[in-house]
Amino acid sequence: MAKPKIGFYWCASCGGCEEAVVDLAEDILAVTAAVDIVFWPVAMDYKKADVTSLPDQALTATFINGAIRTSEQEEMARLLRAKSRYLIAFGACAQLGGIPALANEFSREAILSWVYQDAPTVVNPERVRPAVRTDDDGRTLTLPEFRNVVRTLNQVVEVDYYLPGCPPTPKLIKAAVGALLEGKLPPRGTVLAPDVALCEECPRKKTKPQDLHFTAFKRPHLVPLDPELCLLAQGLVCMGPATRGGCGALCPGANMPCTGCFGPTSRVRDQGAKMLSSLTSAMEAKEVPEVEKVLAGIPDPVGTFYRYGLAGSLLRVNTTAAAAASKEAL
Ligand code: SF4
Ligand code: SF4
Repeated sequence: MAKPKIGFYWCASCGGCEEAVVDLAEDILAVTAAVDIVFWPVAMDYKKADVTSLPDQALTATFINGAIRTSEQEEMARLLRAKSRYLIAFGACAQLGGIPALANEFSREAILSWVYQDAPTVVNPERVRPAVRTDDDGRTLTLPEFRNVVRTLNQVVEVDYYLPGCPPTPKLIKAAVGALLEGKLPPRGTVLAPDVALCEECPRKKTKPQDLHFTAFKRPHLVPLDPELCLLAQGLVCMGPATRGGCGALCPGANMPCTGCFGPTSRVRDQGAKMLSSLTSAMEAKEVPEVEKVLAGIPDPVGTFYRYGLAGSLLRVNTTAAAAASKEAL
């Protein structure tokens, strides 16, 4: 009997999700014995034609990591959607936008100006920028278009399942592949991780106060941390209450606050807003100068509360940047 065909593809991301597949270690041998990997450009010399030549839905599943920023990423997402029975948003960038989506704080023009002109390390006196098409000496060079904003995978194509995390843990990947092979998948649209808040699996849970009272927000590199006490109780912004479990509370286990990479549970529409409202409502300060002093402990609110989820959030993009994007599709 023919083995299920599987694909992996990498869009706007750091590559950590690809490494997470390799982190399956010897378990990857069982995966490769059970499936035919027919497209995985980062690992082997696959070409786009290897996919275009397949009939529609020929792939049982494709795991796409990374957000969508360029025309090429959008084209590949649409192509792989057509060729796959199941499309899985693999990791925080594909699911929610991830770190690349923090670029949605800035307009496309601001990003290009900084990268090709204004950054102190740039030497570019002629102010050359990449062009979508360049004709030179009878030859034509084309490059993907850099789109206005970063989008999540499901803002471009229909997604069947989501594997959360930056990156997803080997345990979750193994469970997802197992469910796929055994035909034991949950309803479409499910996030393949426990639907409970991270605090539920945190070893510090017993020390989490019922009522929080913040007089200051502290940053982890500036204060000595108690290795057992709830990090919120120590005045740190730990995203545990607004974040889905499934990683085994890796960061609090390493004496660092959770930064939210597993995204929200199904009961939370906007992870950043939930965390922001619960923290600010627990602030002792009431007058504006006092409030501003306390909030100075969170110097990068977007990067703190929307570190992995700006594109998929209610905010989605800086409205000034959106205005600069004019009539082009967001
Ligand atoms: S340390 Fe963070 S994850 Fe753990 S119980 Fe406290 S708030 Fe929740
Ligand atoms: S503790 Fe939070 S940031 Fe760390 S791996 Fe788990 S979900 Fe991600």
